[in-house]
Amino acid sequence: MHSINHNILNMSQQPLLFTPGPLSTSLSVKQAMLKDMGSRDYEFIRAVKDIRNGLLRLAHVSKEEGYECVIMQGSGTFAVESVISSVIGENDKLLVLANGAYGERIAKMARIHKLNHEVLRFDEDCIVTPEAVENFLKEHTDITHVACIHSETTTGLFNPIAAIGDVVKKYSKVFIVDAMSSFGGVVMDMKAMQVDFLVSSSNKCIEGVPGFAFALCKKTELEKAKGRARSLSLDLYDQWAGLESNGQFRFTPPTLSIMAFRKAMQELEEEGGIEAREHRYKTNKQILDEGMHAMGFKQYLKPEIQGHIISSFLYPEDPRFDFADFYEKLNKRGLVIYPGKLSKANAFRIGNIGQIFPDDIENLLQAIKEILEGDSISV
Ligand SMILES: *Cc1c(COP(=O)(O)O)cnc(C)c1O
Repeated sequence: MHSINHNILNMSQQPLLFTPGPLSTSLSVKQAMLKDMGSRDYEFIRAVKDIRNGLLRLAHVSKEEGYECVIMQGSGTFAVESVISSVIGENDKLLVLANGAYGERIAKMARIHKLNHEVLRFDEDCIVTPEAVENFLKEHTDITHVACIHSETTTGLFNPIAAIGDVVKKYSKVFIVDAMSSFGGVVMDMKAMQVDFLVSSSNKCIEGVPGFAFALCKKTELEKAKGRARSLSLDLYDQWAGLESNGQFRFTPPTLSIMAFRKAMQELEEEGGIEAREHRYKTNKQILDEGMHAMGFKQYLKPEIQGHIISSFLYPEDPRFDFADFYEKLNKRGLVIYPGKLSKANAFRIGNIGQIFPDDIENLLQAIKEILEGDSISV
C-alpha cells in the first residue's frame, strides 16, 4: 500500500502530452488498471460488452439497426489492417484516397496483402474532394470499396467524409473510414455519413490508454468477410464471431487497457458526451492558434480545412531555430509536443486532445515564449 500511495503522489508530476496519441489520461483512468484481471473474469466480460455497445451508441448506431463493434488487440493500425485485409475479396478492388501518411499506410497494406487496388492521391495540404472521387469512380467501374482518412493526423486536416460518403454510395461502393484521431472528439453519425466500417483506437479521443482498437461495422458487410481474411490474428470476422459466441477474445486480451477504457467512456459521458468534448478541444485549439499567431508562428494548413485535433506550425524562419533543442527544452518542463511528418515543409505539431484543458494550453504557450526568448529566436 505504501508504495502505491507514493506513486500516486508522484502522478501530479506527470508530463502533459500535446500529441495525437497516446495522450494524457486522467488519474482515475490510470487507477482503473490497478487490479489484476483474468480474461474470463465476469467483471471483464461485462466491461467488454459495455464497451462494444457504448461505442456503437457514440457513433449513433446500434445492434438493432444492424451495426456491430469488433475490438482488436494492438494499436490503431492493427484494426485498420484487420478491416483492409479481411473485407476486400479476391474479385474486389479497393480505392485508397490518400492525402497524408495515414492514407499511404492503407495503400501499403493493400500492396502487402496483394489486394486489387488503386490509389488516388491529393497534396498533403489539400482535402480529398468529392468531385475528384466521383470522376475516378465514373472511370473505374471495377472499384468495390473506398477507404479514406477522416482526420489526417499528418497535417491535422479533416476530409469531408459525409460528402465523400454521398459519392461513394451514389456508385454503390463499400465505405471504409479511418476515424482514428477524431472519433470521440467530433460528433459523428455513422449511418448519416454512410460509413460501413469506421475504425478508431483506445488511446485517442476517448482518452483511454493504448492496447486495442476497434472497428464499427455494418453487419451485412461484416458477414461477407467470412473466410476472406489474409491473416489469422487480424481476421475481423473470426474476432467478431468469437466475441459474439462467448463474449471473449480469441487470443489474450488487453485486460487492463479494457478496464481503463470503460472508465474513460464513463468520464466522457460525465463530461457531457462527445459534444462537450468537441467543444473543449475546439476551445483548446482556438487558444493555441491565437497564442501561436501572436508570437508570429504560421500554420501549414489554410484555416478552412483544419480540424480541431492537431495543429501544424511551420518552423520559425530564424536559422538558429533547432527543433530538437526546442523539443528537449519543452520536454524538460514536462510538456511534450510532436515532430512533423510532412514531405514538403518543416513543421511541428501540437495536439489539442486528451486530458488537456485551456490552462494547460496557456502554460504551453508561456513556455514556448520563454524558451524562444531565452534563445533570442525571432519567429
Ligand atoms: C493514430 C492514427 C492511426 C493509428 O496509429 P497507431 O500508431 O497504429 O495507433 C491511424 N490513422 C490515423 C489517422 C491516426 O491518427
